[in-house]
Amino acid sequence: MAGLINEEDLATVRERSRIDEVVGTYVTLRRAGGGSLTGLCPFHDEKTPSFHVTPARGFYHCFGCGEGGDVIAFVQKINNVSFAEAVEYLADRVGIQLRYSDGGGQRMEPGLRLRVLEANQQAAEYFAGQLIGSAGLAGRQFLDSRGFDKVVAEQFGIGFAPTGGRDLGQHLKAKGFTDDELVKAGLIRENGWDFFQGRVLWPIRDAGRSVLGFGARRIFEDDRMPAKYLNTPETIVYKKSNVLYGLDLARQSIARKSQAVVVEGYTDVMACHLAGVDTAVASCGTAFGDDHARLLQRMLGTGDVAGGEVIFTFDGDAAGQAAALKVFKGDQNFLAQTYVAVEPTGLDPCDLRIQQGDAALRELVGRRVPLYRFVMRNVLAGYDLDRVDGRLAALRAAAPLVSSIRDNSLVPGYLRELSQLLGMDPEEVRREVKVTVQRRGRPAERKPDHDEALPGMPEPKASLPVPDPTDRRLEAERGTLRLLIRAPETFTADWNGLSADDFTHPAYRALYESVLATGDGPGIWTQRVLQANPDPVLEQLVVSLAVEPVLRTPTEAYSREYSSQVRLLALARQIAQLKSRLQRTNPLEDQPAYDRMFATLVNLEKQRRELLAVAAGPAA
Ligand SMILES: [Zn+2]
Repeated sequence: MAGLINEEDLATVRERSRIDEVVGTYVTLRRAGGGSLTGLCPFHDEKTPSFHVTPARGFYHCFGCGEGGDVIAFVQKINNVSFAEAVEYLADRVGIQLRYSDGGGQRMEPGLRLRVLEANQQAAEYFAGQLIGSAGLAGRQFLDSRGFDKVVAEQFGIGFAPTGGRDLGQHLKAKGFTDDELVKAGLIRENGWDFFQGRVLWPIRDAGRSVLGFGARRIFEDDRMPAKYLNTPETIVYKKSNVLYGLDLARQSIARKSQAVVVEGYTDVMACHLAGVDTAVASCGTAFGDDHARLLQRMLGTGDVAGGEVIFTFDGDAAGQAAALKVFKGDQNFLAQTYVAVEPTGLDPCDLRIQQGDAALRELVGRRVPLYRFVMRNVLAGYDLDRVDGRLAALRAAAPLVSSIRDNSLVPGYLRELSQLLGMDPEEVRREVKVTVQRRGRPAERKPDHDEALPGMPEPKASLPVPDPTDRRLEAERGTLRLLIRAPETFTADWNGLSADDFTHPAYRALYESVLATGDGPGIWTQRVLQANPDPVLEQLVVSLAVEPVLRTPTEAYSREYSSQVRLLALARQIAQLKSRLQRTNPLEDQPAYDRMFATLVNLEKQRRELLAVAAGPAA
């Protein structure tokens, strides 16, 4: 950390920083009489100016919101930076090399930062002039094809780097810049050639509108640089992880609306601003990273973690989903504020504006959903949530996402959300996530579980799994089959109304289907059952059932108790499944389907109550 700023230097910075110039980069000021200037306050929303700057006294004051102070206070407030940072910013601006009371570590060579900024500014003006001139035809054609005319190009300061190879270098050296300064600015290469040649250029500025560097797009087939986009290399002022294209344009709206929209390209930023989404920015030549997030956070400037939205626009495709997941796994400090706006057609904002107009872009942003919901939905989309095993597998896939959330205060909300998306009991979801946390670090083990076998599941006839005879959850099914094998005469003609779907274990289900398939034929009952479905596992099962002890003498009532248990459990599953679907169905979207499901649910509940009356009888 730097030490205390030298008093003398501080005074000089104050003296030389003209408040009307500094404020003027953020607010359009007009003369108001009495030596005062006025404009729209950058710190509160207003339609008529109540923000005043008095250059003679070096102060600003807003009669609307009461904000006021000197030039340093203004820089602190507008950029959300510390006192020292504000002083450094202003010192750079007016060309003062600050001294610190205790050394303050390594300082940059005097004035280089400012020289680089100045060279960039001159370069931007030169490039803009080239775009309008005869050399810039190809650049203008490119912009035209993106729906941007001359006025727009001017508004965004777009330029064109000529193909000559040394034009910019010669232009700037004639203005007094040295080779060394231009190399350090990233404007020319060590060998003296211009860094950008034959490309359309976007000036990348900071919030104070200083040009930090450029983004450049290839437009000629024979461009010697392979990359479609080329950016200023890292320089004393251009750090790609710390710059956002459009920040100078979006700065005030971001602060005012407590919202920032992150898009992917320069033309996307332009399209957004032209469409009224004036909070759009883009990272330049690199993925949106943690530093970008912090930069935006400072600009959102609410200072309140709960406030502010950062909205990412992604393609709905796999790449977009991966990008979203990456943001999710990045700096989670802003997770609660991070949103995703997905364009289902896959069009980027620039193309969307060309094809569907400005309103479509505003709607895209309006459709934003919280990032974690987007990520979770993507994970769950790969599973069949109509099936118990599908829901369970989806839960297991999503659990690591929830358990990776570091902010504990967010977890309960996300658990609720996940259980809603799955249509599962929140408590069950919470348990599974807890298990995932405990399991973390070890490879996920996934042992087959007959619980996942389900009605409607394709029957693996060749190799039926052997059911565990001591499994208490399957006791009703096994007991019912035991009675069916031992005392079929105690069942009604329709086997007490049982159906194959009532049996969850594939072997039990297969055995019941064999029973259904028998009919009144000759021969021993168990042999007839086995003939209907010859399978080694079934044969073994029938033998086991035939010798297992039956606690009471089989009677019709006893058989009905067992079969009712099986029916009740099956009904409970169906009801849970239907409730889960109802939870996931928006009645506003499909009222008839919702009503049908609801009617079925009522019917199932009625059957369940009737069965309960039977099953309530004295058990074995
Ligand atoms: Zn104000």
